[in-house]
Amino acid sequence: MSDPTGEAKLELKQASKEVKESENVAEKYSALTVSKNSEMNMGELSSAFSAVPTHKPVKKQIQFVEDKQEFSRFPTKAGRRSLSRSISQSSTDSYSSDSSDDETSPRDKTQVNSKGSSDFCVKNIKQAEFGRREIEIAEQDMSALISLRKRAQSEKPLAGAKIVGCTHITAQTAVLIETLVALGAQCRWTACNIYSTQNEVAAALSETGVAVFAWKGESEDDFWWCIDRCVNNEGWQPNMILDDGGDLTHWMYKKYPNVFKKIRGIVEESVTGVHRLYQLSKAGKLCVPAMNVNDSVTKQKFDNLYCCRESILDGLKRTTDVMFGGKQVVVCGYGEVGKGCCAALKALGAIVCITEIDPICALQACMDGFRVVKLNEVIRQVDVIITCTGNKNVVTRDQLDRMKNGSIVCNMGHSNTEIDVASLRTPELTWERVRSQVDHVIWPDGKRVILLAEGRLLNLSCSTVPTFVLSITATTQALALIELYNAPEGRYKQDVYLLPKKMDEYVASLHLATFDAHLTELSDEQAKYLGLNKNGPFKPNYYRY
Ligand code: NAD
Repeated sequence: MSDPTGEAKLELKQASKEVKESENVAEKYSALTVSKNSEMNMGELSSAFSAVPTHKPVKKQIQFVEDKQEFSRFPTKAGRRSLSRSISQSSTDSYSSDSSDDETSPRDKTQVNSKGSSDFCVKNIKQAEFGRREIEIAEQDMSALISLRKRAQSEKPLAGAKIVGCTHITAQTAVLIETLVALGAQCRWTACNIYSTQNEVAAALSETGVAVFAWKGESEDDFWWCIDRCVNNEGWQPNMILDDGGDLTHWMYKKYPNVFKKIRGIVEESVTGVHRLYQLSKAGKLCVPAMNVNDSVTKQKFDNLYCCRESILDGLKRTTDVMFGGKQVVVCGYGEVGKGCCAALKALGAIVCITEIDPICALQACMDGFRVVKLNEVIRQVDVIITCTGNKNVVTRDQLDRMKNGSIVCNMGHSNTEIDVASLRTPELTWERVRSQVDHVIWPDGKRVILLAEGRLLNLSCSTVPTFVLSITATTQALALIELYNAPEGRYKQDVYLLPKKMDEYVASLHLATFDAHLTELSDEQAKYLGLNKNGPFKPNYYRY
């Protein structure tokens, strides 16, 4: 094992340098602190970023990104698309009106919106009104994004921006797209996931003039056709990309290299997409600056910790109607996702045990009042197992054999490899689909183990993700696009950048208003004492929240 001390020292040294440099621009940025209810001005936003040091720190940060790419071991197309996320499949399964009898492929239909345009391809443009209501509901919990829209729309910081987007197409994304349009952008959009499009929302966007090419249940061929229709439009050349998973970026890079070269910036939101960008950058083939939204602090915390705390019970209840009080639950992995799940389960009175490989996380679990065990020690008593490790074969066939009748097994980690589901597909076991996403696996003696979502992410497969979480990601994406589009030439090189800390703090402060939260301001004396600028950034980049 190599001694990491030297690297850590180096990292600290670099990070503290970063803080000092950031201080030079913090004053300019202070006008953006929402806690003071000051009106934001896009010129200020841009100038605030202009002095933020980027390249040196970013190199170190990129390294960090690479270190975290455990997901890159499973880069299958289907897997990537079903897993890449930020904008959820929220409400898609429950409410999407795709049950239309019309089996005709949208590609074979000619549809026209009320303004006479046919530059879109959705399931049914007549669903636009229904989609509009869905968007309005989402807007209610995305007040920070709406406030950004209101503050900036007179300045139109995205005037002239021609954005191609490839994300989940849901009510929440629609709020983002409509914000970008309000800020002056023209948008063409496609789906990053063949199942997650809310057809009515796609219709509502197309009705307002956004060229959307997406519907729920696309084939693989449809998927690429939609991306191509988005990009390849006579007389309209994109100059910005907003991607989730990297497929759109990859398509443009391969098929339209001349258009790609002229792109001003890419904003990428998923772990997979960021990894692909980093690989391009490493190979010296990235000819466009790119912003890594995935690793921004606010997104990470909200997506992993708080989002899972909110959605774990929802996913379990919708599928099994299980009562948690007094149930013996094992959560494998006490990282961000595991911590969120445990907090929710504990609050409902479940008896929660943890498995961990990392002594620090294990000790944290102890301090939080959880027993840390080996799975084999408790396997015969456990009622529910939830994997949250990002690892593989965390629950093996041997362990599944020893579980008791009626126990539940599910996964909250990114891939479906945490539970060895493949090992359950043997002739002596019977599979019975009892509900959507719920299988009973039946042993020869009649024992049943309840497997949820075939071992894929429980919350994304079986429930919804809170709109508020998506508001944070969407606000970050909007700001990253504004920044890249308005940055003076040379500020960003052909590389992958992390969002400046200031921007993270700004996104958080925009969301504080929802809770009527009032920030304490540093006095001059306190700021001097701590060596901080009164307007932030308040933490060094190495700070672990
Ligand atoms: P993390 O690295 O903070 O936590 C994972 C923990 O699992 C670590 O503490 C690690 O030590 C532990 N671990 C690894 N192998 C183990 C094993 N064999 N047994 C027990 N513990 C083990 O990561 P995270 O942010 O908590 O994310 C975990 C997974 O969840 C990732 O795959 C991530 O992509 C995914 N994720 C899911 C959602 C969701 O909505 N479901 C949201 C964000 C992230």
